[in-house]
Amino acid sequence: MTRQTPHPLALRRRDWLLGTAAGLTGFGQAQAADAAPLPIFDAHLHYSHDAWETLPPKDAIALLRKAGLKRAMVSSSSDEGTQMLFAEAPDLIIPSLRPYRQRGELSTWMHDATVVGMLEQRLAKYRYAAIGEYHIYGKDADLPVIRKVVGLAKKHRIFLHSHSDADAIERQFQQDPSARILWAHSGFDAPDKVGAMLARFPNLWCDLAFRSDHATMGRIDPNWRKVFIAYPDRFVVGTDTFTPERWYYIGEHANWTRTWLTGLPTEVVERIAYRNGEALFASLLKA
Ligand SMILES: [Zn+2]
Repeated sequence: MTRQTPHPLALRRRDWLLGTAAGLTGFGQAQAADAAPLPIFDAHLHYSHDAWETLPPKDAIALLRKAGLKRAMVSSSSDEGTQMLFAEAPDLIIPSLRPYRQRGELSTWMHDATVVGMLEQRLAKYRYAAIGEYHIYGKDADLPVIRKVVGLAKKHRIFLHSHSDADAIERQFQQDPSARILWAHSGFDAPDKVGAMLARFPNLWCDLAFRSDHATMGRIDPNWRKVFIAYPDRFVVGTDTFTPERWYYIGEHANWTRTWLTGLPTEVVERIAYRNGEALFASLLKA
């Protein structure tokens, strides 16, 4: 391919954006219909034991591909679910190691010392981009189990995917200032607070899973917009399939993401949609 000929995918991506930006004009709609959908890196998916029967691995992968996901970062209770999906589609699935063996451990796991041995065994056997998503708040983040988890992520040079308040994020960075943390749901915090945390911790990234306040009726909230423009490299999107039923929402979520993102400059759109996820997590599984 010569320099003068743009990559066909690059062209189609631009067409998609132009088509959507053209709004309700017939020409814009026709273009959008023909173009490939914007790729999405969904950084917050779970495939836990109660989903396996109703949605077997092959069907789950088909659903992800139909949604137009470029990649899916998946964790599960137990990790078996993630491994089944990864075996089915290693080009699509980015495994993350959840410290839960079954549903219901999210408020007890930090007091269970056996969790550490389980994580060590899995980390020795399989490759992961992150440990998480796990739930930890406030001073509980200084408990011995969490300290060991932070240490394991450091040893294996992978991310922590932490569903936490700002305090617990801060405590984990105190334990390891070089830790890389993906802050689940951006801590359900307000955009100015999220921006302040990003300014303070250069190794903090945020997922936008299960939030809808950054865009209403397809329009980006001005306070969120400021943070996205100031930190375009620090956000990823995610559906959060915390119950099996939410798997059927993945396609709709991807389309909704494609819609609200168009309110941002093209470069920022692509970064948040998939480039950040690729650079941060997919790169860890290569080589
Ligand atoms: Zn989650």
